[in-house]
Amino acid sequence: MSDIELRGVTKRYGGVTVVDDIDLHVQDGEFLTILGPSGSGKTTLLTLIAGLTELSDGRISMAGQEVTRVPPAKRNIGLVFQSYALFPHMSVFDNVAFPLSIRGLPRSEIERRVGEALGMVRLGGFAERRPSQLSGGQQQRVALARAIVFGPSILLLDEPLGALDRKLREEVQIELRQLQKSLGLTSVLVTHDQEEALSLSDRLMVLDHGRVQQVATPTDAYLHPANRFVADFLGVANIFTGRPVEEGGQMRLRLGDGQLLPCPALPDGRGAPELDLLVRPERIRLEPAGAPGLAATVTDAIYLGQSVRYVLEGPGGQRIVAQSADRMARFGRGERVALGWAPADGWIIPPAAGMH
Ligand code: ADP
Ligand code: MG
Repeated sequence: MSDIELRGVTKRYGGVTVVDDIDLHVQDGEFLTILGPSGSGKTTLLTLIAGLTELSDGRISMAGQEVTRVPPAKRNIGLVFQSYALFPHMSVFDNVAFPLSIRGLPRSEIERRVGEALGMVRLGGFAERRPSQLSGGQQQRVALARAIVFGPSILLLDEPLGALDRKLREEVQIELRQLQKSLGLTSVLVTHDQEEALSLSDRLMVLDHGRVQQVATPTDAYLHPANRFVADFLGVANIFTGRPVEEGGQMRLRLGDGQLLPCPALPDGRGAPELDLLVRPERIRLEPAGAPGLAATVTDAIYLGQSVRYVLEGPGGQRIVAQSADRMARFGRGERVALGWAPADGWIIPPAAGMH
């Protein structure tokens, strides 16, 4: 049982702040993902939580106890890194047994625990193999078994699936998720892969330049991003910029060319400056030209198996992406269409503080 609390956590290298004043509470048993582009400070933040890097400022508590100056080995944390290679000259058994051996556990206890951990990652029959005799996915499951074998309450993972191909990655993702839930492990995963973050996490924290952009559930961050960075980083963002106007009791967004777009009600829309309206591809409906809606031209219709992705050109040449659960493309390249969505399917991106 362990939650993790960060207060003002900061890391500077020379004059450069790479992790900037982060407050975060990871709840007991929660799966939280730190998501951000390369260089945003994800790995640094994870090593701060692990105790492998010293903080420049702030403090960290686990299960209500401050651990800021507690060495990593005393934090009861399991670690899995993409590059955290297994010992190639040792068997799977000895690799997984390693954290127990250095803790000096009796042989019988080691055998029992290693057997249990290998069973949990479905590698029961592989104890005598060498890492080189395993697939990439199996190797990463050995690394996972090694991370949980001593019964940590916290699991920290840095891009653990980054080296795996897509299909394997999805398999290990499901396994990781089941294991995490069944053991009740408080987990923090680092990734730059937004799909992975959206599918695995209870909540995610989006990081850019060492600063928190948003902490939210995957659905909330995807549909209701806190700013343009999060909107763009999580999936495909259609963003329309215009001024809010009220028309027949309905709020609409007026584009530069005068077209009016459906738009959710604003608490204080009147007199507002230009706003950014986000509409995710799945929310856009396509109708034949002439129907009410935003005029656009299909530039590409891509069949994806479960759906069709339309790439369109809208007003002023704006690229728009719509994805509909059609079994086959209803519109072809060059065809004129009308785009619509329910007012509540749009999201006004909160303007950056100090911009108005
Ligand atoms: P991410 O994992 O998101 O790709 P990192 O945490 O690895 O990002 O790095 C964040 C920034 O901190 C980068 O600009 C990187 O160059 C810098 N950085 C990381 N470790 C060190 C270090 N030991 N010394 C100096 N700069 C570092
Ligand atoms: Mg990294």
